[in-house]
This record gives sequence, structure tokens and C-alpha cells, in this order.
Amino acid sequence: MAYKTVERPVLTTAEKLYLPAVMKGLGLTLKYFLKRKKFTRQYPEEPTVVPEGYRGLPSLVKDDEGRVKCVACSMCEWVCPPEAIRVIPGELPGDDPVEKGPKEFELDTLRCIFCGLCEEACPEEAIFLSETFEYCGRSREEMIFGKEKLLEIGGVRAEGVKKWKKEADAGFSRKGPRR
Ligand code: SF4
Ligand code: SF4
Repeated sequence: MAYKTVERPVLTTAEKLYLPAVMKGLGLTLKYFLKRKKFTRQYPEEPTVVPEGYRGLPSLVKDDEGRVKCVACSMCEWVCPPEAIRVIPGELPGDDPVEKGPKEFELDTLRCIFCGLCEEACPEEAIFLSETFEYCGRSREEMIFGKEKLLEIGGVRAEGVKKWKKEADAGFSRKGPRR
């Protein structure tokens, strides 16, 4: 392989003092100053619009009948690479065809890497990466979001899987098929 030798340029005194580069930079600043056209988003007065498909904070959703869609199967907890999710299942009251729901559901926002695997893995379409990116806390504990907060962020998703309805329509209760 042939190599080409490049001669080191001989710099003038002005170049050695960076004067042409500084003048070029100042010229650019002056150009944009005189144009007076703002190209900086005035955040937070001017909110950021996230693109379609943006992967923000994972959140839990309810269906249009106000039911928490999560059935505490722990698939998201299992698949989450940084172990940011913790699910504690609880039994749902009464004769509900779905026996389990999340008694506690925690998301450690400091660990989450927004990979979306929880959303992909969820068989109930109960967890989605929202468009939320603005959140803060004063301690590590405050950055662990609980079920109610995640449900508040997620809101309602009418479409998609409704396990309880499917099972009820098929005539199932937790005691088995209804006769
Ligand atoms: S987006 Fe990824 S890292 Fe964040 S909770 Fe879901 S699976 Fe875990
Ligand atoms: S969010 Fe989905 S995957 Fe996670 S525990 Fe609930 S139902 Fe299972």
C-alpha cells in the first residue's frame, strides 16, 4: 500500500495566533446576530414536540372501562435488561375472570434504558413507552415510580387486548367455565 506524504504547511504569524479562525468564528456569530431569526427552541416556554414513535417513560394503561390492563404476569420484569421493573402480584376481589393484578408495580426510572422490551413482551398490551420525558426527583427513592403514577402517565387505551372481557364473554370465571 502506497502512502502519500503530506507536507506540514508553513503558518503565518497571524495563523499561529489563530486570528483567521477567530475572525471566521466572529463573522459567523455576526451573521446570525444580524439575521435575528431565532433557531433555538425557547424551552420550557416552547414545549418540545417529540417525533412519532418516540420512546419515553414506560407507563401502565387502563382500558376504556377503567380496568388496569396489567395482569401481573411479570413478563416485563423478566425481560427488562437493567431490571428496572418490580411487580408484586395481588389477587383481584370477587369472581373476576382475571385472578391477578398488580398489587404493586414499580419502575426505577434511573435504571430504565428505554429499550421498549417491556412493551414488546407484554401479552396484555398493558405497558407502553409514553411520550413523557420530563420528570425529576430529589432522591433516588423519588425516581422509583409506583403503580398509580405510572397509570396516571399512561392514561387510557381503548383498543387492544382485554383479557377480562375475552374470558367473561367465553363464560369463564375463576371457578372454571360457567354452566
Ligand atoms: S423500556 Fe427497557 S429498560 Fe425500560 S423498563 Fe422497559 S424493558 Fe426495562
Ligand atoms: S405490564 Fe404486561 S408484562 Fe408486565 S406484568 Fe403487567 S401484564 Fe405482565
